[in-house]
Amino acid sequence: MRFAPAALLAACAACAACAACTKEPDPDAAPRRPRPGAPTAPSRPAPPPARPIAAGIDLAGMDRAVRPGDDFFAYANGTWMAQTEIPADRASYGTGAIVSELTAKRTAELIQEAAAKAAPGTDARKVGDFYASYMDEVAIEARGTAPLQPTLDAIAALKDAAGLAAMLGSTIRADVDAFNNTQLHTGNVLGLWVAADLAAPTRYAAFLLQGGLGLPDRDFYIDPAPRMADIRARYEAHLAAMFKLAGLADGAARAKRVIELEARLARAHATRVDSSDVHKGNNRWKRSDFAARAPGLDWERFFAAAGLASQADFIVWQPSAVIGLGATARDVPLPTWKDYLAARAIARGAAVLPKAFVDEQFAFYGTVLSGSTKLRDRWKRAVDATSEALGEVVGKLYVERYFPASEKARAEQMVKNELAAFGRRIDALTWMSAATKARAKAKLAVLKVSVGYPDRWRDHRGLDIAPGDAYGNAERARLFHVKAALRKLGTPVDRGEWAMDPHLVNAVNLPALNAMNFPAGILQPPFFDPKRPAVMDYGAIGAVIGHEISHSFDDQGSEFDETGRLANWWTKEDLAHFKEAAARLVKQYDGYRPFPDLAINGTLTLGENIADLAGLAVAYDAYRIAQGGKQAPVIAGLTGDQQFFLAFAQTWRTKMREPALRQRVLTDGHSPGQYRALTVRNLDVWYGAFGVKAGEALYLGPSDRVRMW
Ligand SMILES: [Zn+2]
Repeated sequence: MRFAPAALLAACAACAACAACTKEPDPDAAPRRPRPGAPTAPSRPAPPPARPIAAGIDLAGMDRAVRPGDDFFAYANGTWMAQTEIPADRASYGTGAIVSELTAKRTAELIQEAAAKAAPGTDARKVGDFYASYMDEVAIEARGTAPLQPTLDAIAALKDAAGLAAMLGSTIRADVDAFNNTQLHTGNVLGLWVAADLAAPTRYAAFLLQGGLGLPDRDFYIDPAPRMADIRARYEAHLAAMFKLAGLADGAARAKRVIELEARLARAHATRVDSSDVHKGNNRWKRSDFAARAPGLDWERFFAAAGLASQADFIVWQPSAVIGLGATARDVPLPTWKDYLAARAIARGAAVLPKAFVDEQFAFYGTVLSGSTKLRDRWKRAVDATSEALGEVVGKLYVERYFPASEKARAEQMVKNELAAFGRRIDALTWMSAATKARAKAKLAVLKVSVGYPDRWRDHRGLDIAPGDAYGNAERARLFHVKAALRKLGTPVDRGEWAMDPHLVNAVNLPALNAMNFPAGILQPPFFDPKRPAVMDYGAIGAVIGHEISHSFDDQGSEFDETGRLANWWTKEDLAHFKEAAARLVKQYDGYRPFPDLAINGTLTLGENIADLAGLAVAYDAYRIAQGGKQAPVIAGLTGDQQFFLAFAQTWRTKMREPALRQRVLTDGHSPGQYRALTVRNLDVWYGAFGVKAGEALYLGPSDRVRMW
């Protein structure tokens, strides 16, 4: 489950609707792994540089004219807020965006070094060659549509239903993820996710997720609203334009048929809300069930072509979509299927085809669907594509340069202190029954927290990267990844395998593995900084770590037991008590008003607000554990406790344009950063640290302070 938005912070296993647990979601962020055939991410000019921060806290960015008890966010960030402009092409700007921009730049430099220096045949060389091929627009223009042509020819040569089934099966890739990184969209008719079995998490299961749409979601085909109708009309024009570029006649007629076929698939799709419900997704089908329950497609041929001929069981995440796919295969004439397959193939390859394809793709996915007006620089797209193809190789280069073993050890010690602090908090809980506490402690004892990068790197032998063949490299990389996923079936689950690239500015909670990953990308200043006292890191990344740990034990984490099995370990009374304690936090956040006519929805954001509260409290305890119970020394006139809370509030600095903030408040499960910073109000120590008194705006009487963990 997601922790944060794709490009910025990606996944929090516990955050069902997560857009950003620890950092601001970035409305500008492009999907890290663009879905096949979909959006080429919009472009952004370079944002203003982060200014150097003295003393580990941005002292100059504070506004000491504000009393901490009146507006702690402004006290910590007021001058920065006043002096910072949101870059013209961004909807928001803040700590997360600054760290991500820096990381992308460093990654590009590392890749270019690899291109120049690495020996042939090495993984580093593959990274260099992949990137250089992607950047070689001259070669790409010169080859024209030649790389695409064999696929179009194979589609044109389809003769019957058996051939269609095999062709559809051959497109299946490992490009979805039901609840770790949460990637619910694939442009292929189905997506494969090989992950721990929900019923027996020591073995891998083959999850099948719905797909096949060129538009983001079923609603885009079904919703009668004028805005959606307009998008459909523009999509039709876009498909026609792509057919023309690919040299296929009668593009307009083909486009019409493709949309009709996709609409049929879409009508059978599950909604996004249903797709986020693990209980609705956990449907076990035998291979023989497909012919009986989803007749119309030659499933044996389909699975054989997908490399799943010997797989006996599946978890079918959205059965209605599989049934709909069978019926559509039976009812829709083959020529229409050929148009559809051609459209999907063109879209899949567009990013590495000539500029006319890239521009047309962006005009629809970037501008019509996302409102962007400028395509991202090619080097940024090349970094993303290289990370998609060779993520752990790029990540390894990154950590070798920017994440020394000493820093990994320091972060691991922090995690250890946080786990200890969390254990003490479980012991002290008043709302959890003794039996449930014992289960919680058992789960905590075996929680696997991985820091920086995986213990074992993924093997990329067998992935052939050819200089000068951008299109072929992308295709081979996708095929390599699905084959690697298929090879896992039948082997024991590796709890040490990472779900996220090490250079991502993000973190992920993996509920079925009872594990979490904190990549080196987020273990960078101002979250984690070797040049400053550890107390500041506890306030910053420590609160993030605590937030994620708490998700494994809250109402979301209660669905997965200590082995990762889908099995609720709370009693009904535990849930009732949890909700009772939560009600006061709902009221607190309902009281925050970014605009006179719009308040934070305390119910919508409850789960994340609870995790923020838990994270901050646990991080504080862990900092005191690290200090042997004492406060950290005074620095720049700030006590240790003050440094802790200021570092916390400064990670939440963010500026958002009004439409983005309004949309965020209405749709996101996370409160905006300026309110997440106010979590401090619920901690007794904050009052002492800043001398906050009754009568000040943020003051809460001791009985009004909410304590969940
Ligand atoms: Zn969260």
